[in-house]
Amino acid sequence: MPLPPLSLYIHIPWCIKKCPYCDFNSHAVKSDTPEAAYIDALLNDLTEDIQRYAVTRPISSIFIGGGTPSLFSPESLSTI
Ligand code: SF4
Repeated sequence: MPLPPLSLYIHIPWCIKKCPYCDFNSHAVKSDTPEAAYIDALLNDLTEDIQRYAVTRPISSIFIGGGTPSLFSPESLSTI
């Protein structure tokens, strides 16, 4: 029996401010978000995970959460 497809979660940990009730791993942005460096790190992490776990299963869904992913530019999200 084939294994089910995978779902991918991508975390963007910055927000305009930290809401007092929020338990998420999110942090108030202090100036500009380090988009380029963070995306490079995400892609490196994903590449390593694909190799480490020999991922051959299809990905059926991708969820980008946070934090506030819309703080990133459309170009950065497109790169992901
Ligand atoms: S993730 Fe949502 S609830 Fe949490 S600090 Fe950011 S905006 Fe507020």
